[in-house]
Amino acid sequence: MFQQNQDIFKVLLDAVSEGVVIVDEHQKIVETNDSANQMFGYAKGELVKQSLNILIPQNYHAGHGAHFNGFMKHKARRQMGHGRDLFGAKKDGSVFPVEAGLNPFTIYGKDYVMALVIDISERKYMEQERNHLANIFKESLNEIYVFDAKTLKYINANYGAQKNIGYSLEELTDMTPIDLNPNFTESQFRMQLNELNDKAIEKIQFETIHQRKSGSTYPVNVYLQLSKLGDRAVFVAIILDITEQKNYTEKLEKTVELRTEELKTALATEMELNDLKTKFLSMVSHEFKTPLSGILTSTMLLNKYKLTEQQEKREKHINTITDKVQYLNTILNDFLSVEKLEKGKINYKFTSFKLSKVLNEVIYNANMILKKGQHINYPEHIDDISLFQDEKILELSLSNILYNAIKYSPENTVIDITISQNKNTTIINVTDNGMGIPEKDQKNIFNRYFRAENALLMQGTGIGLNIVKDHLVNLNGTISFESVEHQGSTFTIELPNKAAI
Ligand code: ADP
Repeated sequence: MFQQNQDIFKVLLDAVSEGVVIVDEHQKIVETNDSANQMFGYAKGELVKQSLNILIPQNYHAGHGAHFNGFMKHKARRQMGHGRDLFGAKKDGSVFPVEAGLNPFTIYGKDYVMALVIDISERKYMEQERNHLANIFKESLNEIYVFDAKTLKYINANYGAQKNIGYSLEELTDMTPIDLNPNFTESQFRMQLNELNDKAIEKIQFETIHQRKSGSTYPVNVYLQLSKLGDRAVFVAIILDITEQKNYTEKLEKTVELRTEELKTALATEMELNDLKTKFLSMVSHEFKTPLSGILTSTMLLNKYKLTEQQEKREKHINTITDKVQYLNTILNDFLSVEKLEKGKINYKFTSFKLSKVLNEVIYNANMILKKGQHINYPEHIDDISLFQDEKILELSLSNILYNAIKYSPENTVIDITISQNKNTTIINVTDNGMGIPEKDQKNIFNRYFRAENALLMQGTGIGLNIVKDHLVNLNGTISFESVEHQGSTFTIELPNKAAI
């Protein structure tokens, strides 16, 4: 009978899923069940007669002895390890967390304790993970809010949220996202949330503005997700403060815009320069070729007139050569002026002089190139007009517009020069009755290398007026014109009487 009882007891013991370890009052193991053997990594019966210490990690041995003796004194059934973590030691030496309940009993006058042991490794691990996740939530510097799906009232807000928004959790529990968001209306917001409620989408993301308790606002990216808190449907909102990102993006956009503008300008300048270069090259080749071939012809012909009585013919060709060389010299000087003007290398030389002196010189030279029947009218009594200016530049300007007047007017026409001086400035007009400038070309006349359509068959470089204009601007003067095609043009130069030094 006794044997039978013992067998039944054994079968029952092994059927229990918790580990069962029975020890006597000397902490000797008298019985273990299958679960306990498995849990601690021993074979059946291997633990019997061993000291209980074998199942307890080394560093707990001392403490455990005292606990055990204390327990034996009071002999109350209780849960072990209150307020501290318990660990078991496996046969292979590894340590694992356990939970144990102690049940004292007495048989034949002897005291025993039956310990029910549960391996809680898995539970501990889950607990750790939960704590870890909770910490991430709590400590994250991103703002995390949880609010009720129905009432929209906040349930929780992490440290980052409370810190940035300025409300405590207590204050927040009385508020909804609409209170933090000056752009939201409740109906709008609920409509947005409905998409999540319908489970049509897993998460929504949008950019908006949050308003702090202090009233200040900041741009945010909101990520919203539906979640469960027990049975309760809640929304989890993760909020990213994007102030810096915004500032950075704005700055970047501005820089890109600026650079694009700069590039565009540089490109336009480059294209303009290219265009000028092409025009310049075709002009140079044309303007140099014509006089050069003239010179070549004259020199060849000169060679043929060997007789003394052919002197007149020789002189004619020598004059042609001189003319053309002079012309080439003028264009070359013009090119050099452009280069100097561009580099700002000009030193103006200011002196006091009578305007009549400059005028007479210009008229004298102009008379040499007048066409048949052309005549220049100019004021003869201007001895009282003096200037303190760069004489050479005034001469260059005046001769440029006068030579143009001659060049662009036919034979038998009159050119009128008028001069006036007021308190501050001197004004010179040169009027011709020539071919004039087509209206569509007038806006470009002072552009470098520009030549009006009706002038293209005549000699010229399109440089002269450009140089004159640059010089006059440098000297605080102006040049302007009025012109009617087929009728004539008036060019006007105005210069300060006294250069400002
Ligand atoms: P160029 O005479 O060598 O071509 P300019 O710079 O002196 O160069 O003149 C530029 C253009 O202005 C001329 O090609 C011509 O089309 C026009 N122009 C200048 N003066 C006159 C004028 N008096 N009458 C008509 N067209 C003129």
